[in-house]
Amino acid sequence: MSKIIATSAIKGAYKTLERAEQMLAKSIEKNGEDQVVEFPDTGYYLPIIYSMSGVKVEKLSDCIKVLEETRKLLPVVPSEKMWLPYLGGTLDAGIATLWAEEIIEAIKYIDGPSPVDGIWLGAATDLIIRERGIEFVDGTAPGFAACVGAAKDNETAVKIARELQEKNIYVFMTGETNGISMAEQLDQEGVELGWDTRLVPFGKDISATIYALGFAARAALSFGGVQGGDFRRMLLYNKSRVFAFVLALGEVDELKYANAAGAINYGFPTIADTNIPEILPRGVCTYEHVVSNIPSEEMVSKAIEVRGLKITVDKVDIPVAFGAAFEGERVRKEDTFVEFGGNKSEAVEFLRTADQTEVEDGKVEVFGPEIDDIKEGDVLPLGIEVLVYGRKMQDDFEPVMERQIHYFVNYATGIFHMGQRDIIWVRFSKEAVKKGFKIKHIGTILHAKMHSDFGNIMDKIQVKIYTNPEDVSALKARAKGVFRTRDERLKTLTDESVDTFYSCSLCQSFAPNHICAVSPERPGLCGAYNWLDCKASNEINPTGPNQPIQKGETIDENLGVWKGVNEFVFKASNQALESFSAYSMIVDPMTSCGCFEVIAAILPSTNGVMAVNREHSGMTPSGMKFSTMAGMVGGGIQTPGFVGISKFFIGSKKFIKADGGLKRLVWMPKALKEEIRDILEERLKDMGLDGFIDKVATEEDADTEEQVMEWIQKVNHPVLEMEPMM
Ligand code: SF4
Ligand code: ZN
Repeated sequence: MSKIIATSAIKGAYKTLERAEQMLAKSIEKNGEDQVVEFPDTGYYLPIIYSMSGVKVEKLSDCIKVLEETRKLLPVVPSEKMWLPYLGGTLDAGIATLWAEEIIEAIKYIDGPSPVDGIWLGAATDLIIRERGIEFVDGTAPGFAACVGAAKDNETAVKIARELQEKNIYVFMTGETNGISMAEQLDQEGVELGWDTRLVPFGKDISATIYALGFAARAALSFGGVQGGDFRRMLLYNKSRVFAFVLALGEVDELKYANAAGAINYGFPTIADTNIPEILPRGVCTYEHVVSNIPSEEMVSKAIEVRGLKITVDKVDIPVAFGAAFEGERVRKEDTFVEFGGNKSEAVEFLRTADQTEVEDGKVEVFGPEIDDIKEGDVLPLGIEVLVYGRKMQDDFEPVMERQIHYFVNYATGIFHMGQRDIIWVRFSKEAVKKGFKIKHIGTILHAKMHSDFGNIMDKIQVKIYTNPEDVSALKARAKGVFRTRDERLKTLTDESVDTFYSCSLCQSFAPNHICAVSPERPGLCGAYNWLDCKASNEINPTGPNQPIQKGETIDENLGVWKGVNEFVFKASNQALESFSAYSMIVDPMTSCGCFEVIAAILPSTNGVMAVNREHSGMTPSGMKFSTMAGMVGGGIQTPGFVGISKFFIGSKKFIKADGGLKRLVWMPKALKEEIRDILEERLKDMGLDGFIDKVATEEDADTEEQVMEWIQKVNHPVLEMEPMM
């Protein structure tokens, strides 16, 4: 262990603590000790402090106590003669630094300068953590790189960012070197920054590094069911499940050392491009702690090796970069070379099973104009017809695979894709066309990706692309008939009509005891996996996260309890759960990992329930915000009276059927109501409850449980006539 590192880290920690103390004193003088301090839209307080100490910082007065503890953590600065055989003191200094920095950033939200400024995004909300967290769960994102400082030049910064993006790794950027930061370098080069492109500029101040480590802490709290204060489990969780590392770009000063020491606690190693002392022996991190003097070109691969990341790169033979990280990239109008669909022309995509003789694997044809036949600014119609053949192919898999077209096409840089079926909208950027991207490359992408993702169910794939109006119209007419048949099939698919449900254990990598039982009428609570998806996934990967569950004997039809499901859940939850009711939120409700789109919660005095979606950041009539409730519901435990569900499930016949069903719904945010209005109205029509939807209060009608009471009486809500819920 290097003494220089220890000395620097400890000195850096003292400096950071002093800065925090000064800011706090000033803020108290100005705002008083009762001033509220918080990061926006989160239920995890100041997450690093909360996860490690259990202290819920809510007011400035709480910060005083935390900084007192922080000071106690700090070891003495080692003298020249002292020999430090292990990391202990340095690690403590690292934690002290993170606590002090978290208070610094939180005070900035009160007194300024605001952490949200220009390209800088500041703290992530819980909504972002959930959306992005699920990518860590399902493996779409293998980890994150906390890039601190700036690369030696803009070109190198772009290279590092692209390399990480292509490997689907999130890039969190903070700090600066000689007045410039990596994020600013990328911005100067016109690279699109933000959560959608996985290039996330947190802040230019080194203290903004806590947003990266706070992300990791919140992953443990929200997905891992780790309780605040259980620092050991939080750190172990991160070490074994969150694959992150620090890239120290440019000169490493005392403050940066101190942050590196903080990251080592999480098991995140630091890779530096300068000559700083290394910490090689294996201990807290899975591998080395600090590796230095790595040339910029090799930093990413070195980091992956040191942190032990498993990366699979898609090799697709097209002239632009390709990877999931590019999915969220937009193509702006002024950057567009050609566009298809989006109400400007007819466009449709359609995947169908075909006869073995009909499909020639890898064949891609374009009928109509190609890129070389058109000029900048043109609009073309577009029909993408995908023919697949496979011995294990089933009609049920067609829509599952067809939905992937959207993602796969979007993975190409400079190509934008929106929608599905006959409402698609596609743009090619000028840049992509300049690099040689052609219409036929859509086929190249689909051929490569369908084989790699669906190789187990499909043997051959051929793609026909139409860009002339007659062929597109004809394809659309053919496709629409099939779309109708598929919709009919979905309607007849009920929980009673099948013998087999599917499990989903994807979230166990985050919430070890959580298991989703996915039935035709109850999709996974994340909204991302329905019964058909799970069925296809099981066929593709028979030993994967989606296992068939034989329902077996029905124990309680009303509650939705089956012998086979219970047995499966008992095993899969590591014996944590004995019974599971699919249709009740009161009696043994299903567990929630952390991914739920919506929480349904009982409002006891109204005899009804509310449903709140994650995007709703305001207060709810339960007296809690979504984020607070999420903390109670998540982590793979049963919480009677509360349940995490998908948006779609609210419109299902099985939605809390045993507790009275949709008629119980008394409050939901307006935006959620609008989003699912179609499915709700269809369902309500079946129930003969026309006009019910307007009787469900929103935040415009009621804020408190009392006001909901008044509201339901005013509108004569049917819940008034229902039996007591509990
Ligand atoms: Fe996680 Fe359940 Fe969604 Fe699977 S279906 S990803 S276990 S929330
Ligand atoms: Zn989950």
